[in-house]
Amino acid sequence: MIKRSFLGLVAPKLQYNLAPDPVQDLPVPNTVTLLLRGAQNGAGVTAFKVGEAVKTGQRLASSPDSSEYVISSVTGSISAMAPYVDSYGRKFTAITIQTGGQDEWDAGFSKGPTLDTALKFLEYAPGNPSFKAFADPEKTIRTIVVNGMDQDLLLTANQYVVQNEASDVKSGVEALKKITGVDRVLMAVPENLVQQASTTGAEVKTVRDTYPEGLPHMIMKDVVGQVVSADDTLADAGAVFVSAEAVAAIGAAFNAGQPPVTKVLTVVAKDGSTRNVRARIGTPLGDVLKACNVAVNDRDRLILGGPMRGAASYSEDLPVEPGTDGIVVQDDADSAQTTDYPCINCGECVRICPVRIPVNMLVRFLEARLYEDAAAMYDLDCCVECGLCSYVCVSRIPIFQYIKLGKYELSLIETAEAANE
Ligand code: SF4
Ligand code: SF4
Repeated sequence: MIKRSFLGLVAPKLQYNLAPDPVQDLPVPNTVTLLLRGAQNGAGVTAFKVGEAVKTGQRLASSPDSSEYVISSVTGSISAMAPYVDSYGRKFTAITIQTGGQDEWDAGFSKGPTLDTALKFLEYAPGNPSFKAFADPEKTIRTIVVNGMDQDLLLTANQYVVQNEASDVKSGVEALKKITGVDRVLMAVPENLVQQASTTGAEVKTVRDTYPEGLPHMIMKDVVGQVVSADDTLADAGAVFVSAEAVAAIGAAFNAGQPPVTKVLTVVAKDGSTRNVRARIGTPLGDVLKACNVAVNDRDRLILGGPMRGAASYSEDLPVEPGTDGIVVQDDADSAQTTDYPCINCGECVRICPVRIPVNMLVRFLEARLYEDAAAMYDLDCCVECGLCSYVCVSRIPIFQYIKLGKYELSLIETAEAANE
């Protein structure tokens, strides 16, 4: 079924890597860059300016009431602010901070685990935990699922945290219960981490070690026993997913009185070897790769995330973000190039899709930018974003990228329609 390798020297597998590498702590970089969402451009941010001193843990938002913010991961001064547009056209302000000397921690973070503190400081924690559903009167959250699985093949940062930082996860589980008032906290882990997970105070459930069983919708179906319908979000179905790394970071934050400022990520080199590092959020990717002795040459492919779900990046200057679980470097010779060949209706994508989407039909509508029809007729919203269809496509159509773009464009259409009602 699987025809090719992710990397030239690695045999194709659909099993998660269940042996986390130790974590190497990287030094504080000379600069960090934090991407502040919502501010249209650097000039639009008036709450702070170039030259201003910032402390580690300081909340930076375009206005005090804004729900969009970043947390400074270093002590230093703002050396640049510039507009940044991501591959979906979303606008950010890139705030670059020149680090200077020892960490001096900002005193704004409260040690008391409240929803207000979580909303103001913890949504920029590793894994981007979202607390908005708990503040939404239209949502009834009954279950918090701590996901101890990693979200892609080869990555092991989350499993590392369960294996080695279970006491912080335990503190995080207690804090989450106080913050949200939700008593039912499940923890989904592979069989080999059940012992560590059982010390965290969460109700432990096992997840199979085959991809994509660790993705939230698959856990909802197979572990929680609830199928999330296409029209609903996980929160609509009463569940919020938080990564184990996020929960540990939340626990450590309330223990220390300091918000999280680091991210654990897996670096996959061209030969398929992996290592885990802990870096300040905002560290340039190039600094991480240099510390791992991974050279990137012209035409090599840099992927943020994992091999199945990651997105190609164009620059080593981009920063590690709270959601950056991995960096994969593929040699040019090993990179699977996409094509504009037509679909030949071989059916491989349909056979491998875990939610039985007629992908061969879906992709035709996505290529034609008929996003609403793709959702209405061919289950675009049911896609759990595993990337398997792209992986097996014999025509090498970038199906997964079409799906991600289609979902994003659809969300813009729906937002515009809601605004006009
Ligand atoms: S990414 Fe492809 S294979 Fe995976 S759920 Fe979506 S359509 Fe199916
Ligand atoms: S795998 Fe590719 S070529 Fe085959 S049916 Fe699916 S989209 Fe078409």
